[in-house]
Amino acid sequence: MPPVERMLEFVPPPGLDGPERRKGVVIIGAGPVGLAAAIELAGLGVPSVVLDLRESIAVGSRAICWSKRSIEIFDRLGIGDRAVEKGIIWKVGRTYHGHRELFSFDLLPEEGHKRPAFINLQQYYVEDYLLDRANGIDGIDLRFANRVVSLEQFPDFVKLGIETPEGNYDLEAKWLIACDGVRSTIRAQLGLEFEGEVFEDRFLISDIEMNADFPSERRFWFEPTFHGGQSALLHKQPDNIYRIDLQLGPDADPARERLPENVMPRISKVVDGRDYRLEWVSVYTFQCRRLERFVHGRVIFAGDSAHVVSPFGARGGNGGLQDVDSLCWRLAAILGGRARPSVLEDYNSERVHGADENISNSSRTTRFMSPRDGWERVLRDQVLSLASAAEYARPWVNSGRLSVPSVYQISGPDSLQLPNVSCPGSVAPDAPVGDEWLIDRLGRVPCVVGVGCEPPAIPGTRALNVQINDFVRERYLGSERDAVYLVRPDQVIAARWTGCSGRQIRAAISNMWGMN
Ligand SMILES: Cc1cc2nc3c(=O)[nH]c(=O)nc-3n(C[C@H](O)[C@H](O)[C@H](O)COP(=O)(O)OP(=O)(O)OC[C@H]3O[C@@H](n4cnc5c(N)ncnc54)[C@H](O)[C@@H]3O)c2cc1C
Repeated sequence: MPPVERMLEFVPPPGLDGPERRKGVVIIGAGPVGLAAAIELAGLGVPSVVLDLRESIAVGSRAICWSKRSIEIFDRLGIGDRAVEKGIIWKVGRTYHGHRELFSFDLLPEEGHKRPAFINLQQYYVEDYLLDRANGIDGIDLRFANRVVSLEQFPDFVKLGIETPEGNYDLEAKWLIACDGVRSTIRAQLGLEFEGEVFEDRFLISDIEMNADFPSERRFWFEPTFHGGQSALLHKQPDNIYRIDLQLGPDADPARERLPENVMPRISKVVDGRDYRLEWVSVYTFQCRRLERFVHGRVIFAGDSAHVVSPFGARGGNGGLQDVDSLCWRLAAILGGRARPSVLEDYNSERVHGADENISNSSRTTRFMSPRDGWERVLRDQVLSLASAAEYARPWVNSGRLSVPSVYQISGPDSLQLPNVSCPGSVAPDAPVGDEWLIDRLGRVPCVVGVGCEPPAIPGTRALNVQINDFVRERYLGSERDAVYLVRPDQVIAARWTGCSGRQIRAAISNMWGMN
């Protein structure tokens, strides 16, 4: 059985009795992105106040697919083991046309990684685990039933107006992280608009409880026999829950389609007459849009408040966690006097780039599923029929390109003989090192990794000497004998050399902090 709704306690905030001292960081939104930001900042020594209007975590699920990168971030946040133990591990996806399998893909065909390609886990579990974790951290001040209703910006702080069940109060902060979701109040307060594409097609998304032995795979159908002319997606989740997405077309009436008497016959066909219980159902339309910029003075947008995508590719929540990754170490460094505020421009450019990748992938998939009438539909239908007969046409079939971390454009020193997979801008590839994993040994400060050599000791960094094995050689050395890597606190590679001096590394670190 899925869990019941978790109630979130309202505790009267000190601001109701008189002005509070200005905070370093206030986060609006205790969704996955806001909670992750609070925990990550606390791990970097930065306390925060988290405000959320909610009074409970609803069990109506949204995200279910969490990528390898997100699980690595969960590890740093302290919920990785819990998430993987509960989640359904998968890496294989199958795409069908009618009843015929067109192709399958393996998202992590190689060994030597701590975490799997994906887990399926309902968003309410992720929020529940993050909440448990945040509750146990002194530096996080969680305030539920606190609705932010106004924002004033000043050159070096912001002032928020907040409504609670026991009255209103104001709160000031040096920095505001707006993680208040797709209908962001803060976006509206600043008069900012999303730019991008809104799709007209409607999708019925439901979670059902069913005893079945479907494998732990993603299954996607174009024009399945059980749902004529449309598309369908099936995912397995914990607690014997299955997610079924059914395309309905642009003219479907959402209120009518949501009625159990209309939903159940559709689902019965998908599950071939098996018994099931309907847990949750909704009808969605999707959009692929973003803000032009994510940093506006003292206000920083992250997660769905900054960008939103259709779920085909699982890039919404996963992309939001990558925002947290790119932002928090920079913000902590600014607050600690180690970096200038201008370093937030790097957050802006990295995550706008990440959002564009996610938007472009999700839009192409959605467009392939819902082609416009005319040449787009003709082309799509031709690709599908060709792919049934000819293998060469199968890569053109787009049933979802699943979330992978962005490779940022970093101008740090590079040694081109080293493998592409560990180039500057990419997340440090994992590998077994002794009886540990490389990704777990990188720490929360810049890490100077000597691969097959002693790394120079540099104040303010962690020095890590990695012994060579086959995985390390393939991912970090190629045909070179040794190398030195500079890894940022978000585990992204900043620079690498096949022979370097402490001076070169110090220069790359200054560059990373925006001090050059
Ligand atoms: C059907 C569906 C399936 C999806 N599947 C996936 C998937 O498989 N994988 C994936 O990665 N993503 C998926 N997503 C996307 C994912 O759910 C979102 O990207 C994710 O929830 C974004 O998290 P967030 O913290 O940015 O925003 P939210 O989760 O929306 O949280 C925002 C929070 O801000 C609070 N808030 C809002 N306004 C205020 C205010 N004025 N004052 C105080 N608090 C406020 C809200 O109460 C809420 O708690 C899916 C989405 C949908 C709809």
